[in-house]
Amino acid sequence: LPPVIAIDGPSASGKGTLAGIVAQTLGWHQLDSGMLYRLSALAVMRKGILPTHEAEIAEVARNLDVRFVGQQVLLDNDDVSDALRQEEVGALASQIATYPLLRQALFERQRAFRKAPGLVADGRDMGTVIFPDAKLKVFLIADVDERAQRRYKQLIEKGISANLSALLEDLKARDERDMHRSHAPLVPAQDAKIIDSSTLSIEESVAKVLAYWAE
Ligand code: C5P
Repeated sequence: LPPVIAIDGPSASGKGTLAGIVAQTLGWHQLDSGMLYRLSALAVMRKGILPTHEAEIAEVARNLDVRFVGQQVLLDNDDVSDALRQEEVGALASQIATYPLLRQALFERQRAFRKAPGLVADGRDMGTVIFPDAKLKVFLIADVDERAQRRYKQLIEKGISANLSALLEDLKARDERDMHRSHAPLVPAQDAKIIDSSTLSIEESVAKVLAYWAE
């Protein structure tokens, strides 16, 4: 089986950016698993399914019609790249991600991304549940205040208005939910390398991951 580098960590820790650069540097495939949860949330919203209907939600996730065309993400042939970034979509994703049936429905879909020459996968349970045999497991952390600041800057740069204290509260709530859910909680794999990016630049985080990979 092709090698996997798993990068897990809380919201806004910079996993996605880190995974993207590492994948590009190595010439590997990339899986942004959070996107599959967001896609499921968006599909659920569009179909008007109640957020409490676990079985129906799992069914929607199992039958997601998704295509990746360059940088675009198409859901039912509709470009949803921007819609996926919306706060309500992230909030619903975080809520439905607690459902075991949904996680099960997305299990094989995630594993199918493992292709030669290799895969860099980021999320919450890449190293613990989806790819427990990953060659390298990274757990990326950063202070919640620092993460809120980063997210705030990102939004402002995109011309989206944002409120720092609301972002901070939202991140704390999301951490709480991700870490304390009974199914696949956010915890580092036993063999994960912990990287604290609070005081690291993105280049420094990338260098650390590549150094671990070369070990
Ligand atoms: O990473 P991102 O914030 O886009 O993920 C959206 C939501 O999906 C997260 O709040 C998290 O609860 C959930 N998620 C998950 N397991 C993953 C990836 C994301 O539970 N592997």
